[in-house]
Parts: sequence; C-alpha cells; structure tokens
Amino acid sequence: MKDSARAVIIGGGVVGASVLYHLAKIGWRDVLLLEKSELTSGSTWHAAGGMHTFNGEANISRLQKYTIDLYREIEQLSGQSCGLHPNGGLMLAATSGELDSLKLICSRARYLGMETEMISLAEAQRLNPLIDTRHFIGALWRADGGHCDPSGTTHAYVKAAQQLGASVERFTRVLSLTPRPDGSWEVLTEKGMVRAEHVVNCAGLWAREVGHMVGIELPVLAMEHHYLITEDVPELAGREREIVNTTDYAGEIYLRQERRGVLIGTYEPHGVVWAPMKTPDDFTMQLLPEDFERLAPFFEVGFRHFPALGCVGIRKAVNGPFTFAPDGNPLVGPVRGVRNYWVACAVMAGFSQGGGIGLVLSRWMAENDPGQDILSMDVARFGAFATPKYTSLKVPENYSRRFRLAYPNEELPAARPVRRSPIYERLIEAGAVMGANFALENALWFAPAGMTAAETPTYRRSEAFPVVRAECQGVRGGVGLYETSNYGKYEVTGRGARAWLDRVFASRIPKPGRLGLAPMLNPAGRIVGDLSIACLADDRFLIVGSGFAEEFHLRWFWLSEPPADVFVRSAASTLCGISLAGPRARELLQPLTRLDLSAQGFRLFRVTESAVGLAPAILTRAGFTGELGYEIWTTPDYFATLYDELRSAGAALGLIHFGGRALSSLRLEKGYGSFNKDFRPDYTPGETGLDRYIDFDKPDFPGRAAALAERASGPRRRFVVMEVTDADAEVVGYESIMKDGAAVGYVTSGAYGHCIDKSLAAGYVPAALAREGARFEIDILGEMRSATVRLEPLYDPKGLRLRS
Ligand SMILES: Cc1cc2nc3c(=O)[nH]c(=O)nc-3n(C[C@H](O)[C@H](O)[C@H](O)COP(=O)(O)OP(=O)(O)OC[C@H]3O[C@@H](n4cnc5c(N)ncnc54)[C@H](O)[C@@H]3O)c2cc1C
Repeated sequence: MKDSARAVIIGGGVVGASVLYHLAKIGWRDVLLLEKSELTSGSTWHAAGGMHTFNGEANISRLQKYTIDLYREIEQLSGQSCGLHPNGGLMLAATSGELDSLKLICSRARYLGMETEMISLAEAQRLNPLIDTRHFIGALWRADGGHCDPSGTTHAYVKAAQQLGASVERFTRVLSLTPRPDGSWEVLTEKGMVRAEHVVNCAGLWAREVGHMVGIELPVLAMEHHYLITEDVPELAGREREIVNTTDYAGEIYLRQERRGVLIGTYEPHGVVWAPMKTPDDFTMQLLPEDFERLAPFFEVGFRHFPALGCVGIRKAVNGPFTFAPDGNPLVGPVRGVRNYWVACAVMAGFSQGGGIGLVLSRWMAENDPGQDILSMDVARFGAFATPKYTSLKVPENYSRRFRLAYPNEELPAARPVRRSPIYERLIEAGAVMGANFALENALWFAPAGMTAAETPTYRRSEAFPVVRAECQGVRGGVGLYETSNYGKYEVTGRGARAWLDRVFASRIPKPGRLGLAPMLNPAGRIVGDLSIACLADDRFLIVGSGFAEEFHLRWFWLSEPPADVFVRSAASTLCGISLAGPRARELLQPLTRLDLSAQGFRLFRVTESAVGLAPAILTRAGFTGELGYEIWTTPDYFATLYDELRSAGAALGLIHFGGRALSSLRLEKGYGSFNKDFRPDYTPGETGLDRYIDFDKPDFPGRAAALAERASGPRRRFVVMEVTDADAEVVGYESIMKDGAAVGYVTSGAYGHCIDKSLAAGYVPAALAREGARFEIDILGEMRSATVRLEPLYDPKGLRLRS
C-alpha cells in the first residue's frame, strides 16, 4: 500500500468511487481510495439502481443529468458495463396538487434542457401497461433516467480512475485520522499509516463515525428501506421494450421492470431508523430482516394501482439501510474548523447524484471552487442546531415524504420549534404562522383574530393571500414591525478588522457610523454573499446577511484566515432584531430615543449605538421594504422589553405586524434581489447588479480579476423583475423563461405585488434581451403567461420614500 497520497478517499461505495474518478480526471492522479471491505459492501450493493433527473432544486437536477450522461463515458473508459437501462421515467399524479407539481417540473425542465412533457393517461399506460389509470388524473414523462447495475457502475468508476493512475486498497479499514500542523493528515489504517494532504469522508453508512474521527457530528442517519421483486408478470411477456420506470406519488410507490418481473419499492410513513447510535463495524454485504407485516398496507396500495402485481408471487424481498440528511439532500464540501477534511455523504440517491457530487467536489478540492451553485447540498446549510436528536426527528420525516410533493408554502412540523426568539410566544399570540429558517422560528404571516393560524399547502394562492395583502398595505400606508432575528449576524472586532474585511469583501468598508451593502465574491468572481456591514467603530463591525447562510458565511470567513488581531463570531444567538418600516416609522420611534431621527439627523445607511426605550441597542436606518425604515438590534435579555415598548408606542399609530411573505412582496415591488433565492454562487456582480457596490479601485479582493473582466465585456445575462399578466398563481422558482418558443432563462423568485396589483417574477434573461418592456413567456402551472420586463422598480422608482 502507498504510504502517502494527495487525497485519501474513505469508502468504496458508489460515491467514493465517483470522487476517486473525478479527482483523477481533474489531474490529481496521486489519490487513494481505502475500503474496509469489498467495494460496494455498504448500502451500494443492494440498491435498486434507479436513476432520474428529478429534484426540487434545479442545480441538483442538473447534476443528476450529468451523472446519468456520465455512465457512457465511464463504460467506454473502463470497459466495464454499468448495466444501463435508459428507459426514461413516468410520474403519476392523483390529486390536483400533484398535477400542479408535475406541471411545475415540466416548466423547469425546459431551461435545463431535459426532455419532459405532460402526457395523457392513455399514453402513460402505453409506456407502462401495469397502470390502472382509474387511480390517476395526470402523468409526466421524462426521457432521462432508467436504471443501472449498482455494482457494475461502481466498478466502472473505479476502473476508469485506476486507468488514470488512482489507487484502491480494499480490506483496509481506516482506524483514525490525526491532523498534522501543516494541515495534512495521518490516516491510520489496519495496514499501516498513510500521509494525506486531504481526506474525503465517503463512508456512507459509517459517515457519522468517520465524522467522529475528527470530532464533528454530521447530521446523517440511516433508514431501513424495502423493495420487492415479483415473479414474472404475464402482462410484460412479449413486449419489445421494458416498461418505463414509474413513480406513483399518491401510492408512494416506485417500480421498474426487473427481467420479466417488477421491482416495486415504497417509502412508508412511519419508517424505521437503522443503527441510531452507531453503525456496526461488521455490517458488510448484509441485508436486514424483512418486515412485511408493517409494510403490507403500503405495498397493497401498489397492488391496487398496478393490479397485475397483486396476481403474481414475490420472488425476492430486500430490506437494506441507506443514509439521509435532515432535508434529504447530500452533505458535500469542506467543514468549518477542520482543514483539508471534505465530506460527500448522506447521499440517498447515489445512482442519480454520485457523478455530480464527484464532479463538484473534485473541482472544489483542486480549484477552490465547486464550479457551480451547490448551496442545496453544501454541508454548511446545517449549523449547530442539527444535533443528533434534530437529525433523528427530521430524517424519518423526510423519508416519509420522499414521494410527497413539496408545496412551496408548506412548513414541515418535525423538530419544531427548536430555536425560539424571546418574543416567540408574543408573536404566536398575535397570530403568527411560523416557518423555520436555520431552525429559528420566524413569522411568515399573521392570521387576524377569528382566522386559524394555518395554511393549506398549495401551488396556488392560499387563504393567506388577502392577509398578506393587508400586511403589505399596512406597511406602505402606516408602519409595520417585522422580526429580523432570523438574519445571519456576525461581529468582527479587533485592530485588524477593517483591513481584513477590506480583503474579504468586494465593497468599500464603511466609515464609523455608516452602513454599506457588501457583496462577497469567490475567486471565480461569483456571488457568495450579499451582506451589509455596519461600522460601529474602526475596530468593531456588525455584519448582517441571510440567516440560511450563517454556517456558509462563517466557513467563508474561516477560510479567509482572519489574522490574530481579528475576532469573528456569530451573533446568531446574541443579537435579536426588529425592523420598523413604513411612513410612520419615525413617528413611532422618535419618542423612544434621544437621537434626532429627522431626515437630516439620521440619514439612510447610518448606524449608531443608542438606547431605544429601556434597551441598549444598535440602530440602523435601513430595511428591505423600500419604505422609511429602521433596524434595531439588542441582546436577547432586552428583546421582549424592546418589543413591548415598540408595540405600545405604535398602538396609536396603527402599528401592524408583518411577516416574511409580505416582505417578499414588498422587496420585489422595489426590485430587490435576495441571497439564496435570486443571488447565488451561479451569478456574477454584473448579472445581479451588485457590481454597483464593488470598489473596483481596491487593489485586491477575491474575484477581482473576473469582476473586472466582466465589467469590460458586459454581463451575459441580467437579473430582472417582470410583470406577469393574467396569472392566477405566482411563480415559485426555476420555471423556464421562454422567448419565441425557446427557454432563455429561469425564474429565481416570485410574489404578488399587493401594493401595485401585479404578479411579479424575478429571474435572469440574456443581457441583450433585458430591455424595458421586453416580453417573455413563463409556463406557470401549465399555462403560458406573458411576462414583461420592468427595469425600474414598480414601486417608488426614485426611492423618495426610502430617503424620506
Ligand atoms: C434498498 C435500497 C434501495 C435503493 N435504491 C436506490 C436506487 O434505486 N437509486 C439510487 O440512486 N439509490 C438507491 N439506494 C441508495 C443508494 O444505495 C445510496 O445512495 C448509495 O449506496 C450511497 O453510496 P455511498 O458510497 O455513499 O455509501 P456506501 O455504499 O455505504 O459506501 C460507504 C463505504 O465506505 C466504507 N467504509 C466505511 N467506513 C470505513 C472505514 N473506516 N474505512 C474504510 N472504509 C470504510 C464501507 O465499507 C462502504 O463500502 C437504495 C438503497 C437501499 C438500501
């Protein structure tokens, strides 16, 4: 065995094999995969091998397509068959909500270049004669997908990697990992020590344990999963082609042809966690006992929806474990605080996702950048809140919903509430309908007295629509209060703080007493943050960004190596915030502070530390609604007092609460993009319009060269807000934007603009087409709607209210 390698990959399942191949392909030939047993011996060998491009997140869909397309390449390189059956896929809907969801998938697929269409049930039955169409109301067909041979595919990756120079050691268990002062690793195995610059945790069922080796707790857990293989099905005899792989959402069933029989699997509601505390070391090429009694009712639904299957015997039953993260997406990337340690685990669809994961991880390791937006599978989307207990509550919930279509207005109940601000109970009393952002409860909207504080999951306008409208009008017409505790907050202090921030951010760092909008770029010049920096003193800064990205940004700061005289810490749990917005905000706040809040006294983008009522606070004049607004930050112990005082002061002014839904509507009326939705690592400063906050005169900041090059050549596409005509539902995200029948861009977010009475869609279109009044079409739930670009904000285009 080699005693050193540039990278050691722990685990020879389909994911480790793909990472090995991609590292070798990108030029890291000196890479070594260590497998404690035989290749595939964890969860890979008994997988059903199904592959598809479906994912609620377009960037993951794209990587799934890459994975499936890759199989021909590794077959050719390795001479090893992947056992491909590229049958395509069928998705069946039984309810109007499911049908809406299929239509949304279709709309999204156009821009992704995937061949997908809604088809009749008769056509669906031609593709799969086992379907009893009486149970369904619609079907979607997609060309991509089918199934492959799990073992053949894994070996094809490995052989292709070996041809490029990579090495594999089977029956070599990794026992411990010890960091060396230079950032490299001592990898202790049963066969001796290996020195490695980098280590990758691809340990699948044992990913948690390989995390423990470096002192981290990865949010990953295994669930038992059953599928059956039937005896030969007479209805399939004599068919020239295999049936198309089929997903039945109502029945929570998937099936595909297996020789002349059928493989049928289910994701049942009360799934069973496997090995909750520790994965047994000796679980190798093993299955688990079947539990037909528990699963019979769920398979019976399948036998009703596909009646021919109820008439044949069962040839084989498989119950095997595989791993999930709390939201079902993989955990990929570097881990904050552990140098040169990478993860690629919690991959529950290894045959759809393994290739894409190998691709982005290899780029990330070799080029410092995954090369595309992978926020949705970045390990940093979880923070300290993702404790083992949280994971043990969320993973079974996710498993039970594997085939439930997720509605855009749906909030999942497991492990709630976890993080609560001090005014949580007060907001609930005020009717708040809560969502969870980074596990912190935050108000989405406020049900008025007499209305149930709950919402029907739908793709269309819900009962919250008129309520959100009233909230928006309340803000624009008077004054509203929104809790901002769920924003990401960081304190940067120390003598070297300004100089370090100047290196990390692309913007000018504000002077004391001022606040500045601050884009952060990766070395490739793409947006990794759209934050604000408030300078409290030359050595004290408060940075505010997207709450969802807290761990992502903390990791970014850590990777940017603050020197010894700079201290960076999260203020997630040490600062709570309230935003007051609306023309009467000043009137409300002035009596509570000695500060002169007049338009000249405390201008837009000013910050100060000043008491607000009884609370010592940081006060900024800023906001996200386009109205006169203030953000007030204080510590949790004063927060309820601050809230109570603001409420009392606001009573005579008609102060209302508003939630995240109203904020989405208000910000789109102003044309403001939002990180996570509109601004993500796929986009550049010129495309997003954030270039106007970049200080191009600075000699150095990450991504400067790329940003300058873009400034010279102009952006390829542009972020725009469009007015959508005749819509009876708003866009959700990733719908294709069409021009003359071709998909030219996609939607990033949408909302109804209640104060301008227009449905709004934001997204990216080619720069040459991004003109005032340019017309596009967007397929919203199966209906083509006209969308017109509005370059000026539709509300208060001159920003007079903001500056008032
Ligand atoms: C019944 C069933 C059906 C499935 N059907 C499908 C399907 O149709 N399509 C699909 O895409 N996915 C399916 N899956 C999921 C699929 O199996 C997983 O996504 C995939 O196997 C994950 O691969 P992995 O490489 O991450 O993990 P694993 O296959 O678990 O590989 C991890 C490897 O790491 C090794 N290892 C662990 N610790 C150490 C150590 N300390 N030292 C050295 N080696 C170590 C293990 O021995 C193991 O070989 C199914 C799973 C099950 C259980």
